[in-house]
Parts: sequence; C-alpha cells; structure tokens
Amino acid sequence: MATSSASVNLEDVPSVDLMSELLRRMKCSSKPDKRLILVGPPGSGKGTQSPIIKDDYCLCHLATGDMLRAAVAAKTPLGVKAKEAMDKGELVSDDLVVGIIDEALKKPSCQKGFILDGFPRTVVQAQKLDEMLEKKGAKVDKVLNFAIDDAILEERITGRWIHPSSGRTYHTKFAPPKVLGVDDVTGEPLIQRKDDTATVLKSRLEAFHKQTEPVIDYYSKKGIVANLHAEKPPKEVTTEVQKVLSS
Ligand code: ADP
Ligand code: AMP
Repeated sequence: MATSSASVNLEDVPSVDLMSELLRRMKCSSKPDKRLILVGPPGSGKGTQSPIIKDDYCLCHLATGDMLRAAVAAKTPLGVKAKEAMDKGELVSDDLVVGIIDEALKKPSCQKGFILDGFPRTVVQAQKLDEMLEKKGAKVDKVLNFAIDDAILEERITGRWIHPSSGRTYHTKFAPPKVLGVDDVTGEPLIQRKDDTATVLKSRLEAFHKQTEPVIDYYSKKGIVANLHAEKPPKEVTTEVQKVLSS
C-alpha cells in the first residue's frame, strides 16, 4: 500500500486500503512488543527474513545499510560522508549510524518494537543503543545470530538483485524473480549493489569478523543471543526464527 507518506491526505486514500490498514492495526494490537537485532555477515539472509518477522509482529524494520544508501543516492551531507567507507566495504563512523538510528526509532511504526538489521555493528554502537533504550525504559529482547560459513557468502552476494524502493531481495539462483531483472510486485527494474562484488566482500567480511563479532559476545553475556543455521534454505531459516520468537 503506497500510503505511508506523512503528506498523504487520508480523504484521497481508497477505502479498501484504509480498511486493510485498520484491520492490520487491530491485529497488531494483540501482538507482544519485540525489540530485535539481526546480526550476521553480508549475505547471511537478514534482509530476506526481516519482512516476514516485521509482518508477523508489526515491527519497524531499520536497515542502516539501506538508510545509508538512500542518503548516498540523495547526496545528503550524511551520504557524502558515508560514501567512501561504503564503497570500500569498511564501516562508517559510529556517530553517523547512531544518529540515524536514534532518529528512526522515533517513528510511529516502531511503536510495537523494531528489527535492527545491520546495526549495531560495533560494541560502541551496542553500548550507545543500550543507553538510548534505557532512557525510554526499554531494552533489546533478542539478538538473532545468522551464523554461516564465509565460503557460502560469495555466491549469495554476487547473485543478489535488489528492488531499491521496497528493499525486496532476489537471487539469480536461490530466489529468482519471475522475469529476470524485474521486480515481481511493481514491474520496476532490479539493481545490483556496487559493493556486492567478490573483492569488496572480502573487506566487508574482515570488518564483520573484527568489529561485529564482538557484538555477539557483548549480547551473549546478557543471555539474549539465539543462534540460527543461516546456511539452510530460506523457509527453514524462517521456521527457526519463528520458533525462537515464540519461545
Ligand atoms: P543480508 O541482508 O544478510 O545481507 P540477504 O537477505 O540480502 O542478506 O541475502 C543475500 C542473498 O542471498 C539474496 O540474494 C537472497 O535472495 C539470498 N538468500 C537469502 N537467504 C538465503 C538462504 N537461506 N539460502 C539461499 N539464499 C539466500
Ligand atoms: P549493509 O547493507 O548492511 O551490507 O551495509 C552496507 C554498508 O553500509 C556497510 O559495508 C557499511 O559501510 C555501511 N554500514 C551499514 N550499517 C552500518 C553500521 N551499523 N555501522 C557502520 N557502517 C554501516
């Protein structure tokens, strides 16, 4: 439904869309609040599972990579600062991403909780997130660790195709669109990310092992990490996620 923009006049929204949004919100009101973090190397399946969890639990999905790419495309001051590190597969500064998340968590769609996808990626970011949540009397409920061997990731990353405006993800072999290069829902063209190459993947994996794996230890000490078998087919990973979240 294309009615999420704040500038939309409700009178212009078709009744059928209003009704289905109303029904969605009624269904959501009976769901428990959830504050989730998805952590895993690039290509481990975080973006694939997020929309399913988001719909099941009525959460907002905040993917810092998507937000940064939008800022780069719009050439905002933040995007200009982030671009160089992103192109090289390195992490952008903690302050930049913490600022983005702090702002995004205020959105009404995050009222019942959130899925953080690709954040926090350093222990400093995790500590800052905890401070942010503490101020609101909240805390992270669960960290889903998309555990997977590096060797599987090159094929996943180099075959990935994306519909930029929705974030829908496809794969030439594992999740092909109905028509090659075209989004199933809108018919719009799919793109490949500039950093989805075997060479840049090496730097991204290095950053993951050095800077992000300690984040998993940080949350393990709090006893909230659930390990997933992210090498399994998407549907099996979904089943594992659903089991973890319903327990
Ligand atoms: P991430 O968000 O963790 O970087 P994605 O969800 O975008 O990863 O997945 C990377 C690529 O691998 C995508 O092209 C996606 O279609 C594909 N993919 C995701 N999960 C699986 C899976 N369990 N098995 C095989 N391919 C997958
Ligand atoms: P992703 O879409 O999650 O693969 O992220 C793409 C790129 O955005 C990364 O390689 C980083 O350069 C940058 N990025 C995304 N999230 C973060 C974060 N939490 N901290 C630092 N850099 C990030």
